[in-house]
Amino acid sequence: MKRSRWLVVGWSRQRALLMRIICFGAHPDDCEIFAGGTAALWSDAGHQVKFVSTTNGDIGHWQQAGGPLAQRRLAEVQAAARILGNEVQVLDIHDGEILPTLENRRTITRLIRQWQADIVISHRPNDYHPDHRYTAILVQDAAYMVTVPFFCPDTPALSKNPVFLYASDNFQKPTPFQPDVVVPIDRVMDRKRDALAEIVSQFIEGGCGGGPDDLPRDGADLQARQAQLKQGWFRQRNANIANRFRDQLIELCGEEPGQPSKSANTAAGRQTMNCGRCSRWKKRNRTYRTYRTYNAVWFFG
Ligand SMILES: [Zn+2]
Repeated sequence: MKRSRWLVVGWSRQRALLMRIICFGAHPDDCEIFAGGTAALWSDAGHQVKFVSTTNGDIGHWQQAGGPLAQRRLAEVQAAARILGNEVQVLDIHDGEILPTLENRRTITRLIRQWQADIVISHRPNDYHPDHRYTAILVQDAAYMVTVPFFCPDTPALSKNPVFLYASDNFQKPTPFQPDVVVPIDRVMDRKRDALAEIVSQFIEGGCGGGPDDLPRDGADLQARQAQLKQGWFRQRNANIANRFRDQLIELCGEEPGQPSKSANTAAGRQTMNCGRCSRWKKRNRTYRTYRTYNAVWFFG
């Protein structure tokens, strides 16, 4: 069985070249959800990670909107970034209104070039939300152009095309997500949960789908809701991803059959893997993030 296909992210400084990674999410919470743990691992290993929200999130709440909400959401992802170790930028484009225009293609191209990116991560283009779809299209459209010198000549073109990655999702049509890279994030899972808990407007107050019952009554109530979320949905969401790609985990870990331990606390969203090939993984709780890889050259044939 080929094992080289599966990569663990989080190499030490001494063992790997330092990389520059840029992630594009449509809203100020998307990158944190789909790459927050991986960003923390990369950051710890000395790599440089930047999260870009392509819209400012200014309609992403049931009670607030406009400039004040955009400012609030910027502050939320800045707080999350301090925990995860990434840089953050929020583009001043209205939430719900980003389009795959030439102007926006230039913006994305410039950002990838300015960051001198080795890796670019974004949504897949088959997604329920138009902002996610068009952000994905914009990143795809930039994926080749970042190397073309006379496209946006005001920003020097990259001499080497980055690796472009899709974040995992559950969409089935036209093609279901298939991972090429699996990333265990157990070591930083608590930090990821802490970071997501900073994004109160979305994960506590419900974003645009919330209501009065989602508003914390006071500081103590807010803390209680955050604690509940960390042990509930945040944990379960990543555990579901790990369980969905358990076969790839076993392939990464080795050829010995790995079986979830019956003693695993599955209700809490974790399982214990027993692996004969890789003792450092034995009987440790692990959670995984997965990505569908595409190389821009392959993508454009
Ligand atoms: Zn979003």
